[in-house]
Amino acid sequence: MDVPGILHADLDAFYAAVAVLENPSLVGKAVAVGSGVVLSCTYEAREFGVRGGMRVVDARARCPHLILVEGVFGSYTEYSRTVFDIFESYTPFVEPLSIDEAFLDVTGSVHLFGSPADIARRIRRDVRKQTGLAVSVGVTGRKFLSKIASQVAKPDGMIVVQPGQELEFLHPLQVSHLWGVGPVTERKLGELGLETIGDIATTPIDALIAMLGSAAAHHLHALANNHDPRPVERTRRARSVGAQSALRPERRTMEDLLPILQRLTDRVASRLRAKGRSARTVTVRVRFGDLSSVTRSATVRSPTASTAALMAIERRLLQKVLDRYPKHEITLLGVSTSGLGFDEPIQLAFDVDDDALGGGTPHEIGSRALDESVDEVRRRFGRDILAHGSDLLSERTDFSDGLAEVMIKDD
Ligand SMILES: [Mg+2]
Repeated sequence: MDVPGILHADLDAFYAAVAVLENPSLVGKAVAVGSGVVLSCTYEAREFGVRGGMRVVDARARCPHLILVEGVFGSYTEYSRTVFDIFESYTPFVEPLSIDEAFLDVTGSVHLFGSPADIARRIRRDVRKQTGLAVSVGVTGRKFLSKIASQVAKPDGMIVVQPGQELEFLHPLQVSHLWGVGPVTERKLGELGLETIGDIATTPIDALIAMLGSAAAHHLHALANNHDPRPVERTRRARSVGAQSALRPERRTMEDLLPILQRLTDRVASRLRAKGRSARTVTVRVRFGDLSSVTRSATVRSPTASTAALMAIERRLLQKVLDRYPKHEITLLGVSTSGLGFDEPIQLAFDVDDDALGGGTPHEIGSRALDESVDEVRRRFGRDILAHGSDLLSERTDFSDGLAEVMIKDD
């Protein structure tokens, strides 16, 4: 049977919901997380028109009794980990989009847990029970459609679109539901008289190309007709990221080993950052000439993907090994990182000037800037570096104008 096996699961108002969970006096109130810009707000605040990405001054103007709280960033990673563990208890094929949403391909899990809709119900129940959070789920046969369905299902709902009913579900929706349609594109489409996804589907492609350019036109036209061949990226979430180097058997001092440790750390940290991940546990492994080996680990309170921070921890661990086994020949040095979370949002700062909602982008602070330049250089040299975890706050890039329109999507 042809079952729609792709789920999009998205926690409702994640940052705000966690803030409320951790401070029960906020239950039922209009609460926003952020400073300068609203990162997330409760549905009580939304009733007054407050939205993620809105400047706090504007939010207050709409909702004078808005309670503004600081993010509890350490907790977000914890909750996220619990939720992703739940996802992975139903399928290994989980593709994270950000700290609080993922695609799941459950096609291979139906013999174990029931239909995709059953699995969605179980996931919603498990997440509620284990974390207290609401997760909305879309269940269809296509990624983009499941993502739209989960948005329409909010808050705290699920929508299943059966095969054959896709267009019926899709076409009455506003164009802004489509991936890639930000306010600028929406306005352009509106000028053409295109308000619903069905309008786009029935517009000749040439008219769309004239308005939006070829790439955006083809993209939107395909989606509006329910064409989206992208599979859920069938990769397991990495449990650890590591690197090691075999060495000629020799007695080695810290001084000898430091450049090797630095190289390994550099590689590991770059890979973490490329995946938008940070690590909580750091392990150093040393193998000796007699093939015995020893590992030393440390777990830190706040996860990191910073080369300098990882290096400092590893250096201490390696020193412990050398102190304990000063006379041994060393034949391998390895480092690995585990306890992986998504990169901590606290490391992002937002421009809050007038441009923040139009052309502003998150900028990194601290040693992250240095790490990033290193990564950038690598990218140019074509090493195995992908993009940064820019989905962290679910930025969406609009197609319009070649000018990236960054929105903080809070749903
Ligand atoms: Mg969300």
